[in-house]
Amino acid sequence: MLNPKIEKLLNEQIVKEVYSAHLYLSMSAWLSDKNLDGYAKWFYVQYSEELDHALIIFNYVINAGGKAQIGAIEAPQSDFKDVREILAASLEHEEYVTQSIYDIVKEATDEKDYKTVQFLDWFIEEQVEEEDEASNNLGRFDIMGGDCNGLYSLDRDMGTRTYTKTARLAELEDA
Ligand code: MG
Repeated sequence: MLNPKIEKLLNEQIVKEVYSAHLYLSMSAWLSDKNLDGYAKWFYVQYSEELDHALIIFNYVINAGGKAQIGAIEAPQSDFKDVREILAASLEHEEYVTQSIYDIVKEATDEKDYKTVQFLDWFIEEQVEEEDEASNNLGRFDIMGGDCNGLYSLDRDMGTRTYTKTARLAELEDA
């Protein structure tokens, strides 16, 4: 049995993770349109990772005896000023997601739902990585992205990212 208050928050978090996926896919589309195929690839991989996050919570809710519910997903921004705006917006978005996870941890602690607190440990660690990557992307762009050679080299580097299904998701699907 999953605490109904926590179930509601986790279901809202599923929507936020799917929204994150759509936001990054939308960024990927904009970058492809500007022929920045490496950056586009990076955000395309990020899309898949965000869907993994949504499915991790989806599977946890079910495994913990709750009912997963998929709410409405708002359309993401589709037009951007430049690459920097995308990188800054993705950092800001990850900071928002981190806060959202913290809010659930706080509520789960207050409700003495320690299994959810423990489950969310993985997300706290993941958000450290997400914020670190987003911050590195922005910082590297600010150092190198100002001229064509720098941008070309960054774009090539970003394009080397590949998607691997998140191990945590595989564990929960097999549980
Ligand atoms: Mg996420």
